[in-house]
Amino acid sequence: MSWRKKCEVSFNGYPIEPPASVSRPENYAELKTNEKISIARGSGGSYGDAALNTQGEVILTNRLDRFLEFDLHKGILSVESGISLAKILELIVKQGWFLPVIPGTAEVSLGGCIATDIHGKNHCFAGSLGQHVISLQLITADGKKINCSPEIIPDLFWATIGGMGLTGIISVVTLQLKRIETAYMKVQHLAKKNLKQIVESLIKENNEFEYSVAWLDALNMPLSHGVIMKAKHADLLELPTSQQKQPFFVPKYFSFKFPNLFSCCFLNSKIVKFFNKIYYYYLAKKNQVYLQPYQNYFFPLDRIRNWPRLYGKKGFIQYQCAIPTKFSYSAIKEILETLHKYKHPSFLAVLKRFGQENLAPLSFPLSGVTLALDIPISNEKLFKCLDILDEIVIQAGGKVYLAKDARLKPKTFREMYKRYPEWLTIKQHWDPKNRFSSSLSRRLKLGL
Ligand SMILES: Cc1cc2nc3c(=O)[nH]c(=O)nc-3n(C[C@H](O)[C@H](O)[C@H](O)COP(=O)(O)OP(=O)(O)OC[C@H]3O[C@@H](n4cnc5c(N)ncnc54)[C@H](O)[C@@H]3O)c2cc1C
Repeated sequence: MSWRKKCEVSFNGYPIEPPASVSRPENYAELKTNEKISIARGSGGSYGDAALNTQGEVILTNRLDRFLEFDLHKGILSVESGISLAKILELIVKQGWFLPVIPGTAEVSLGGCIATDIHGKNHCFAGSLGQHVISLQLITADGKKINCSPEIIPDLFWATIGGMGLTGIISVVTLQLKRIETAYMKVQHLAKKNLKQIVESLIKENNEFEYSVAWLDALNMPLSHGVIMKAKHADLLELPTSQQKQPFFVPKYFSFKFPNLFSCCFLNSKIVKFFNKIYYYYLAKKNQVYLQPYQNYFFPLDRIRNWPRLYGKKGFIQYQCAIPTKFSYSAIKEILETLHKYKHPSFLAVLKRFGQENLAPLSFPLSGVTLALDIPISNEKLFKCLDILDEIVIQAGGKVYLAKDARLKPKTFREMYKRYPEWLTIKQHWDPKNRFSSSLSRRLKLGL
């Protein structure tokens, strides 16, 4: 296992931190315990400082990516935690299985997704990823390998789900997969003229389509029109007859990189406004139900491998909050109006519906909706404006997603995450010296 100094940057280019020691073990046996402060890092797909550790060590898990066991009949998969979702899907889809919860990219590690308890476009139906984990093996602060599950040491299990890597290093994961008949999605678009219509339609019960997400044009104020994209896994008989013989065959999913020439400050409000107009009409026009390979529906951003660079050298912030149903429209409206008032445009705005929260004290989803906004960092005033958004979120009883956070304060965090004291008791029991610590945990004073 080699140790070296390396500057690790976050996915969105903010924050940039001084170099940390980085190690990349080839297997878990190489992971020796020591007194050093460390944090696991999967693919570095979190936005912000969750997987940064300027005062300690970063343990890269991307070589810890082996398949261990796959029960083809029951759909139970055991893998090392550094494996990417893309690699898992490549194996399981052709066997008629699918991941129960999928984020907006396949280029992230399973360990990272469990440590942030990711949600997908089907939260109302499936909950978040932690609810499908059968068991975990965790390397704790004293170097022991501990097996935990909802039945075995449940408090450690749930503190690790969404625990941001602070309870230990997840080494092995056993997961329950879901059955699919084809690798295709049946998709329907619903164009909506304004934010109110989008929110009302999104939160309405819908049992036909398991997945839904709304794209909204946050630059088109005050209307913010948008399109809801609903989907379900296509059944075998829903494929054209010619495709029914090979229901799991999908064309190769090509991706490309923007030339460096374009990568500095390519995006600005005028360009995005123009693009959004075209995109709205393109999506709205597709109002018939149609079939799409699963990658096209779930991972549109994976097509452009270096898209965050389009925001320029200062990077961008993704502000993602969850708002309880009762205040979903009013709080989101206020958030968008505040950004507009202070002239901080959001270039990408996405809304999803959330179902019930789970047992994990630091899990993000709560019953309501979640809004994610990509906002370029134009100047320092943005951070003041985001503090105002935090107040709106707190007033509505909501919270900001730690996997996307780079700037919350200890006080606002505690106002949002009411179950933090519960998590802290478990953390202090298993890691009394706060050995697992990251730039995010120090900023928010977690574990103390
Ligand atoms: C384009 C894009 C779309 C996204 N869409 C969604 C979405 O729809 N829903 C959603 O919920 N999230 C979404 N995310 C966020 C992403 O899924 C999470 O941030 C996830 O944690 C990234 O996994 P990673 O391997 O890159 O983790 P990293 O960024 O490397 O780490 C994230 C956290 O997990 C911890 N961690 C990583 N590996 C381990 C391990 N083995 N043991 C213990 N802790 C570990 C780290 O310490 C850190 O705290 C998206 C991200 C991107 C880039």
